[in-house]
Amino acid sequence: MNSSLRADHAHAAVFPDAKGRYGAFGGRYVPETLVPALDRLQEGIDRHLLSAAFQAEFAYELKTWVGRPTALSFAPTLSKRWGAEVWLKREDLAHTGAHKINNAVGQTLLAKRLGAKRIIAETGAGQHGVASAAAAARLGMPCVVYMGAVDVERQAPNVGRMQLLGATVVPVTGGDKTLRAAIDEALRDWVSDPDGTYYSLGSAVGPHPYPYLVRELQSVIGREARAQMLEQAGALPDVAIACVGGGSNAIGLFHPFLDDAAVGLLGVEAGGRGAGLGDNAASLTLGSPGVLQGSYTLILQDAFGQVQETHSVSAGLDYSGVGPEHSYLLKSGRVAYESATDDEALDALMECAKYEGILPAIETAHAIFGARRYAGAHPGARILICCSGRGDKDMPILQRTVLKDLQHS
Ligand SMILES: *Cc1c(COP(=O)(O)O)cnc(C)c1O
Repeated sequence: MNSSLRADHAHAAVFPDAKGRYGAFGGRYVPETLVPALDRLQEGIDRHLLSAAFQAEFAYELKTWVGRPTALSFAPTLSKRWGAEVWLKREDLAHTGAHKINNAVGQTLLAKRLGAKRIIAETGAGQHGVASAAAAARLGMPCVVYMGAVDVERQAPNVGRMQLLGATVVPVTGGDKTLRAAIDEALRDWVSDPDGTYYSLGSAVGPHPYPYLVRELQSVIGREARAQMLEQAGALPDVAIACVGGGSNAIGLFHPFLDDAAVGLLGVEAGGRGAGLGDNAASLTLGSPGVLQGSYTLILQDAFGQVQETHSVSAGLDYSGVGPEHSYLLKSGRVAYESATDDEALDALMECAKYEGILPAIETAHAIFGARRYAGAHPGARILICCSGRGDKDMPILQRTVLKDLQHS
């Protein structure tokens, strides 16, 4: 596995640069108090991440506990319906039901090597909290998860899952009481004990070196998918498509394909209710450059630079910023970004569930809609979709939306 890791790394040698920049984006916009902790994390990454010992341990946990490699499934009915050749990379089959576990296991292993005594994490909808709690339990570390008080209310089943996995869930009552406030609170905790505590961040966002670290840990998705396409389809895809919240499943899928000039890359953001400020979470397609949580990237802000509230039917995409590498890949033209609305995503979710026997997460459904739209414009295209997670967690919202309509029709 290390040869493919190295090949991937040929590109990573260019970005980020020594200052954590992807072109103009990225960097590290943090209070002085955070700098020593981030420096220590960077040193730890330099020492361990690419070492044979760390990579062997990571590969072992991914194989025997997470269940990797995840399958690549041909989608015969979607292929027929769309007039394309559709392949699904099945991150929904990974332990705890989404790609987030890859990052959580990798960071927890790193935390142990750095001598940390406890793991802290933030969570919005609860998926990264569950993955972090599971990884910490597996590797014998105590875990504290910060979660906005509003999210604690509306994601009660995931709070229970984290508690059963042995984690302490701390509701955050300050700020916006959702994901942004939870990240701020986790950073505060980390600053107070940077040696004993490891902060496991859940997406490819935040100050350098997090976007780089998360990308490296999630690139297992694209490395596997690339090899599986060659083996099962006999060719690379014409396009690889993923949904984009903070951007971790997308960068993990895209990165190993960046040097394959013939492979198009397409990210799909949450278009929510429409293009108005506050009605979506489409920071790449509708945002402008600014600083959010330690990183210079495209964000949703008003004319005064005030960060805006976002809306999406999908909690996992509901964030006003995006990982800085995506901002760079958009400006460089290597990756195209579009959005799918709430209704479009829910429609694609129903189609995938009914015709392929796979209930995807609502986040994932944005990518599936993007793929259907792409097929419409490119008949016969060979399309790879990252099925980032399963939809069981979304049953409460599906009950209130598409199932209600089904029952009344
Ligand atoms: C959290 C989540 C996402 C969005 O996060 P990214 O960092 O953009 O990948 C997408 N899909 C699922 C299933 C998730 O749980």
